[in-house]
Amino acid sequence: MPATVAIVGRPNVGKSTLFNRLVGKRLALVDDTPGVTRDRREGDARLGDLRFTIVDTAGLEEADADSLTGRMRAQTEEAIRAADVVLFVVDSRSGLTPLDKTFGELLRRTGQNVVLVANKSEGTAGMAGAYEAYEMGFGDPVAVSAEHGEGMASLYEALEPYC
Ligand code: GDP
Ligand code: MG
Repeated sequence: MPATVAIVGRPNVGKSTLFNRLVGKRLALVDDTPGVTRDRREGDARLGDLRFTIVDTAGLEEADADSLTGRMRAQTEEAIRAADVVLFVVDSRSGLTPLDKTFGELLRRTGQNVVLVANKSEGTAGMAGAYEAYEMGFGDPVAVSAEHGEGMASLYEALEPYC
């Protein structure tokens, strides 16, 4: 059975863009409006010679840092639980927000395997955010640009042990 990889993070960091990049089809809806991914979506992903099931999750859009409750939280927690490894996506351009830190705490409590992904790292603008992400204690962030397809070799190296 292929490994299952869940993509988790707050709204608008590029989870669905990364999902689409890995599945190679526009299965997940990408939109500038936070809150578009209402339900979890699954696809067959390929990255080099790796094959795995990828799960896109809602970014807990209706929640704030104090009240991560309700159906989307339950779905996200289920996706985390069912995964072999979680891609925790942050936006290296915007820097970390309180909601990123809430997600980080949630993930830490699950004890899951986590790969920290600093998305939107095309060009040089992302460096500050990537360093900030390192401070979350999930190890070296994998700098990628889901939109431009950059950093996929680093993502391969990070996922290979689990897939
Ligand atoms: P989600 O809410 O986490 O699923 O985020 P989306 O995938 O819907 O993307 C949110 C916004 O970020 C969209 O406008 C995307 O085009 C944009 N985005 C996604 N990946 C990248 C990237 O690598 N670089 C840049 N600059 N923008 C991106
Ligand atoms: Mg989405």
